[in-house]
Amino acid sequence: MVEFRNVSVTFKQNKNTVEAVKNVSFTINKGDIFGIVGGSGAGKSTLLRTVNLLQPLSSGDVLVNGSSIKDYKGAKLRQLRQNIGMIFQHFNLAENKTVYENIAFVLKTADWKKNDIKNRVNELLKFVNLSDKADTYPSKLSGGQKQRVAIARALANNTDILLCDEPTSALDAETTASVLELLKEVNEKLGVTIIIITHELDVVKSICNRTAVMSEGTVVETGEVYQVFTNPQNEFTKQLIAHTQNFEIPPEIRENITGPVVKITYLGERAAEAVLSQTASDYNVRYNILHGKIEYIGSKPLGILYVNITGESSDVEQTIKALSEKTYETEVILSA
Ligand code: ADP
Ligand code: MG
Repeated sequence: MVEFRNVSVTFKQNKNTVEAVKNVSFTINKGDIFGIVGGSGAGKSTLLRTVNLLQPLSSGDVLVNGSSIKDYKGAKLRQLRQNIGMIFQHFNLAENKTVYENIAFVLKTADWKKNDIKNRVNELLKFVNLSDKADTYPSKLSGGQKQRVAIARALANNTDILLCDEPTSALDAETTASVLELLKEVNEKLGVTIIIITHELDVVKSICNRTAVMSEGTVVETGEVYQVFTNPQNEFTKQLIAHTQNFEIPPEIRENITGPVVKITYLGERAAEAVLSQTASDYNVRYNILHGKIEYIGSKPLGILYVNITGESSDVEQTIKALSEKTYETEVILSA
């Protein structure tokens, strides 16, 4: 569907050259909700913009629906751009047009008939749950509503690819969840392939099925989201994930604690309970749970527990060994 082949983009400004994207290769399949994640300046926006030719390549190729973007010219390029919608962090709505007019404008440009435009806009407004806002101007809408309008507009031409550049970065947590839910519906009900770029791992975790991790212009890791989150291969990815999962042991606990603190990662919702009670009785140790949470990646659970273990030191040692064998991952983060 979208295949990046050794894509590089270099910007030359005065005497400086910036290699924004360096030799990137990976494939996005039809039906994916594909997340490209990485920090600011990693090259995400530049890469995304190559898909609809907003950004020319310095070298390499991008294949969209099997054809090289170099072959898209004139009418074929216009057709391609109509098939690819795009939404942005700051919505980019026309402030002097109503919600209805913002969406209708795209269809007029694509030479839709007047009556078809009316039906299509109303259908889209219904889909994004904003039928009552047709005559409202963007300045009267909340951020979440604005992004819903932008999504409706991006889909207007029966788009089959939707590019999303930080679509939730300007929204609060609750609104983010509802916009992500809508994007999921767009993917499932309308069969639209979605490419989301974001600096927030939570976005990728909550709706993407596959992901590419970008750092300094290169893609350091790609794969199924659950696979990448539970078993990252690249050091940068490991740090990125650890950063969101780490629990700082409060200083008053750190100072008064005896026995080691271990971080246990387990797959499944209840996988840890049996292991803890079994090892506690096998080795005669006590557990003190400092922190625990279950994250959902897609709909699959990943559990993380921080426990302090006390008991005879040889028993504690054996317990850690047993935990390492019986859990997905056991890591001693404080040895005392
Ligand atoms: P991201 O979206 O991951 O934050 P960008 O793709 O926007 O990253 O930028 C990647 C790098 O390319 C940055 O160093 C940025 O300053 C540079 N860059 C992006 N667009 C341009 C441009 N039009 N001209 C010069 N440099 C640019
Ligand atoms: Mg960007």
